[in-house]
Amino acid sequence: MPANDAPFLLAIDQGTTSTRAILFDAKGAQLSVGQKPLNQSYPQDGWVEHAPEEIWAATVEVTRQALEAAGISASKVTAIGITNQRETTVVWEKETGRPIYPAIVWQDRRTAEKCRELEKGGAADSVQQKTGLLLDPYFSGTKLAWILDHVEGARAKAEAGKLAFGTIDSWLIWHLSGGKRHVTDATNASRTMLFNIRTQSWDDDILKLLNIPRSMLPEVLDCGASFATTEKSLFGSEIPVLGVAGDQQAATVGQACFQTGMAKSTYGTGCFALVNSGSDPVISKNRLLGTVGYRLSGEVTYAIEGSIFMAGATVQWMRDGLKAFSQSPDSEEMARRASDSQVYMVPAFTGLGAPYWDPDARGAILGMTQDTGLDDIVRAGLESVCYQTRELVEAMDRDMNVSADAMPQPLRVDGGMVGNEWFLQSLADILGRPVERAATAETTALGAAYLAGMQAGLFASTDDIAKTWKSGGAYHPKWDASLRDQKFAGWKNAVQRVLSGV
Ligand code: ADP
Repeated sequence: MPANDAPFLLAIDQGTTSTRAILFDAKGAQLSVGQKPLNQSYPQDGWVEHAPEEIWAATVEVTRQALEAAGISASKVTAIGITNQRETTVVWEKETGRPIYPAIVWQDRRTAEKCRELEKGGAADSVQQKTGLLLDPYFSGTKLAWILDHVEGARAKAEAGKLAFGTIDSWLIWHLSGGKRHVTDATNASRTMLFNIRTQSWDDDILKLLNIPRSMLPEVLDCGASFATTEKSLFGSEIPVLGVAGDQQAATVGQACFQTGMAKSTYGTGCFALVNSGSDPVISKNRLLGTVGYRLSGEVTYAIEGSIFMAGATVQWMRDGLKAFSQSPDSEEMARRASDSQVYMVPAFTGLGAPYWDPDARGAILGMTQDTGLDDIVRAGLESVCYQTRELVEAMDRDMNVSADAMPQPLRVDGGMVGNEWFLQSLADILGRPVERAATAETTALGAAYLAGMQAGLFASTDDIAKTWKSGGAYHPKWDASLRDQKFAGWKNAVQRVLSGV
């Protein structure tokens, strides 16, 4: 049991499949966890919703669990940091705190038609220039507009200033503060498609385009700021909420990617890669996203983000669909056993993302001979995640004007798949750059705790945080350049075969 007078930091990590609270000490060591799964509902094809009240109740429950499990009273917690699933949209009544509609989850595609219409009207370019984002249903803007257009009486109430909009961080802070605070942070704001990342303010032209009253929007604060103080009745003592960042940005902080060019990649179901792009926003020419990495003391550090739809999901398909193995970690031994075959798997089960953006492409396994066995196919599945990462990293390098012979920085990795060391070595081989795993599996929650801790004065600067980052193993490329080029050319060739227009 830790000494009771040491400073403690509590991270609330509100994700798509679960709500968690993790208590850390001031060195970033994890002391306890509270966790609860979260329901999703799918009322129509392409629609995905959560109950906002369930998210709020679970947040209180898991926070109490984490405190109890560590035997720490709320009065000993220096600060709370919040990290959350991004883009998910909630609208509630300011007077009662009640949501007027379920939370529309980031995965929800109901506004695809609206986005196509806006694109036809010529809005995509200015939206990208201002927000860094592609005009897509993924982001909050068109989800919020949908609620105003479809919930009876919503528009009139919104225009009368009676409704509040927020991403999950805002929704939680509103309730943690007993309805006193309507705020968000710059990273979450940067995923709404309503926020100008250059001026760091809500964009009146986009609000007009989507017909959204400004009075609904939260105040945007730095990632370290006085967001709120929790109501005493919730946890027994008031706790200040001093840090907030969206999940991928929090992981970037948790991975201490504080120098321009440092990148992290999180391998869960999908993969999200972010590279710190410095103090000027980069508008991607390769259909990646420009976004706020973090904002501290009013200074913005930007990031470029790219994602892969099927990372761990490819492993899951090999396990549950192909029945190649019974547990995900078994994929490692099979890949090790495989011969160095020319088999490629292109896991385009739901199309291909960056840099192809072909929603109609479909998956394939190519290059098989009579000697090909399941081990080779599993190896090809794991390698497909590595090749796709290389495509993302190359697109990021192009956007950042990094020359091909520049000394590559290690890619910092986390997420469920990084338990697989064969995968990490292949990733280094295929990228031609070192890969470094974080010692902690909890980089996202840790990032939120760091932000809160920095605001509380436990860390003087990002350098101080960087000093606490610990490596959980480095993997160096072993392939020579000609093998790497030959294998990557084979991948590119395989992709060409599955593109829908070819
Ligand atoms: P999420 O947060 O998206 O639910 P996690 O970070 O928990 O994901 O990672 C889970 C994913 O990692 C699953 O898709 C699982 O198949 C994959 N995974 C877990 N362990 C391994 C492993 N040893 N090798 C390959 N994939 C793994």
